[in-house]
Amino acid sequence: MKLNEIIEMDKKYYMNTFGSRTPACFVQGKGINLWDTDGKKYYDFLGGIAVNALGHCHPALVSAISRQASELMHCSNLYYIEPQAKLAKLLVENSCADRVFFANSGAEANEGAIKLARAYFKKKGMPGKYEIITLKNSFHGRTMTTTAATGQDKYHKPYEPLTPGFIHVPLNDRDALQKAIKFSTCAIMMEPIQGESGVNPATKDYMQFVRDLCDKHGLLLILDEVQTGLGRTGKLFGYEHFEVEPDIFTLAKALGGGFPIGALCAKEHVASAFEPGDHGSTFGGNPLACTAGLTTLSIILEEKLAENAENVGNYFFEKLSGLSRKYSQIAEIRGTGLMIGVEFTGGIAKEVKDKLFESGYLVGSVGTKVLRLLPPLILTKPDVDGFIEALDKILCGMQ
Ligand SMILES: *Cc1c(COP(=O)(O)O)cnc(C)c1O
Repeated sequence: MKLNEIIEMDKKYYMNTFGSRTPACFVQGKGINLWDTDGKKYYDFLGGIAVNALGHCHPALVSAISRQASELMHCSNLYYIEPQAKLAKLLVENSCADRVFFANSGAEANEGAIKLARAYFKKKGMPGKYEIITLKNSFHGRTMTTTAATGQDKYHKPYEPLTPGFIHVPLNDRDALQKAIKFSTCAIMMEPIQGESGVNPATKDYMQFVRDLCDKHGLLLILDEVQTGLGRTGKLFGYEHFEVEPDIFTLAKALGGGFPIGALCAKEHVASAFEPGDHGSTFGGNPLACTAGLTTLSIILEEKLAENAENVGNYFFEKLSGLSRKYSQIAEIRGTGLMIGVEFTGGIAKEVKDKLFESGYLVGSVGTKVLRLLPPLILTKPDVDGFIEALDKILCGMQ
């Protein structure tokens, strides 16, 4: 189909939740490249919003999914599932968690985390502990409860009354956090680096303070690693940067390398609060999704993609810093590894994004100020050079 026909059909039949999308429809991908309906080639520096960690259509992932699809896609959790057990084992062996539960998305994994935290205190005989402190400008998903957990008014307004039991405090503000703890508090939930609101990292001091506070008050620390997990920040999990361990953390985005799967991961003493019948999922943990997850995580580990994200991410930072010395339009560069935000002065982020798109580079933007870069973890230094050259040209033309 031609792009204009697809757009026309979308406008007529699809719910208008995404407004006017970037005018392209991709039909093929390979590595960091995508091709649209006109055969134009793009360089993907958004990676399906931190999903395509291995790039597009990694041959080993394609063949694993194809093989599994031809053998068995779904059978229900009433039976034992080999790839599910194997992926849970691999996650446990490589993280601070002892047990795993699989969901189908980040929001769903976070729902599980919230339910687990509440169940934990109910089963300890403390039913009055149910409130979760989350951060302002956080993002935890689009279900009713994860919308309530998300600390952004714009996501709340159309859906009030929200699920009760969430309060929001500013990131990196110790006093506000300490004051927010009440008898009813059961957990603190946060992203190691806030992604959706423009790449805002927690400081190491703050994260360690949060962990200490949780220990002191007997609260659970839930880290939403849906975006920061699986090598994105240059370590396999974001929490490794802070030398703290969460009691519960969640994964999704990159876990299936493009196939939908989410994971709820927890320490044994917390995980055991879930007893038979307390939680479940029809699709979660199915053979196909878990094969995608098992293959993706194995490749991330074997090909040391977290290390690559660190090396190429540092190089990217240096190059962007070079541009920021040259152009006053760049106000700040934030993030770690291949999770990078570039803040501009004068509200030009969207214009820069559109110009990059015209040059064949795909990036995200947050509001009018921040450009969001989440390229595949297989990114190379020459890929970065190409991007920097394109951005340099664009900023030069905008002076
Ligand atoms: C993307 C994201 C989610 C939501 O994941 P979905 O798969 O869209 O439900 C939750 N938390 C964080 C930190 C995210 O980046």
